[in-house]
Amino acid sequence: MSIFNAPDYDNHELVQFVRDPDAGLSAIIAIHSTARGPALGGCRMFPYADDAAAIADVLRLSRGMSYKAALADVALGGGKSVIVGDPATQKTEALLLAMGQAIDQLHGRYITGEDIGTRPADMAVIRQATRSVSCLDEVDGGYGDPASFTALGVFQAIRAGCEAAFGSPEVAGRTVAVQGVGNVGQRLCRLLDEADAALVICDPNSSHLEAIADLRAAVVSLEDIYQAEAEVFAPCAIGGTLNDETIPRLKARVIAGAANNQLYRAGHADALAQRDIVYLPDYVANAGGLISCEAEWYGIDREAIEPRVLKIFDTCVDVIHSAQQSGTNTGAAADQLAVRKIKAAAEQSLSQPA
Ligand code: NAD
Repeated sequence: MSIFNAPDYDNHELVQFVRDPDAGLSAIIAIHSTARGPALGGCRMFPYADDAAAIADVLRLSRGMSYKAALADVALGGGKSVIVGDPATQKTEALLLAMGQAIDQLHGRYITGEDIGTRPADMAVIRQATRSVSCLDEVDGGYGDPASFTALGVFQAIRAGCEAAFGSPEVAGRTVAVQGVGNVGQRLCRLLDEADAALVICDPNSSHLEAIADLRAAVVSLEDIYQAEAEVFAPCAIGGTLNDETIPRLKARVIAGAANNQLYRAGHADALAQRDIVYLPDYVANAGGLISCEAEWYGIDREAIEPRVLKIFDTCVDVIHSAQQSGTNTGAAADQLAVRKIKAAAEQSLSQPA
């Protein structure tokens, strides 16, 4: 398989294959762009079916981080790493330390963090081998779980979507269907409840539903959430839930949520636009956590995080306007804005004396 011809290869700056047989480590680190700053992106551990699947994932995810950082206006580029293996049985201290050493050899060009299959405690181990780790627990000197900022950013995206769909950003009196009430979903529900929105929720984990039982939300099944009588649908669970089968069932006029890769494929943004549904792309809406990680990395005061997360509202408005002006869907419009910002940063750094 050729990397340069891989469908997800997008002139990535670096793709590093890492192997340490003694530690049982097989990993890939991809840096999509450092035009705006060091490339930050989590370290995923997953039992990929084959090398091609691991390569596709790391290329796609690292590009996504570049776009997310650009639209969130953080001084970071986009990167990602994947460890091939089952985190339940193959994750050892030696493997994590070997991963940390590989990251350290990139001299700060790539900064890692937790992702699927890794946890904050794993980052503390990796931190023993490299400084290039962010999004750490508070006990390890980090800013802790960024989920509350992610939820606040999603709340702003919902408000921007309501303004576009209904002429007012107010959520009071509107009904929001929240798919998945985990870390982010629960916090989002509390923000919506405080703002006098009504809630319809679903989650396969009953303890997560119970954690917000005081909010008097209507609980529906995992299937019924799509056709809930709600003006807003907020996917906060897993990827791919907006697809050929679910989009025709939606009653909502606005979609904004925390889940990554909500669209089963990029073309589903067209399907939503054709149904006159305002879709706020996932990486724009869920950037609050990244803004918190950036603050941790650069030692920016915690007080400065919230005002920056609130700006996700303005970014969403820009994306909606840009889509309207260019006659495209909001997913494509967000990508175009991100590419423009990354190119501008690259040109600026080229024009500056070394
Ligand atoms: P989480 O694991 O705490 O919560 C996910 C919830 O979804 C769980 O309660 C789970 O039971 C539920 N769920 C699983 N399958 C479901 C289904 N089919 N229907 C309904 N609910 C289902 O994760 P989280 O930290 O709350 O993150 C939610 C999503 O947002 C994830 O996709 C994550 O990658 C993304 N995200 C999170 C952050 C963050 O700061 N935590 C930042 C950016 C993106």
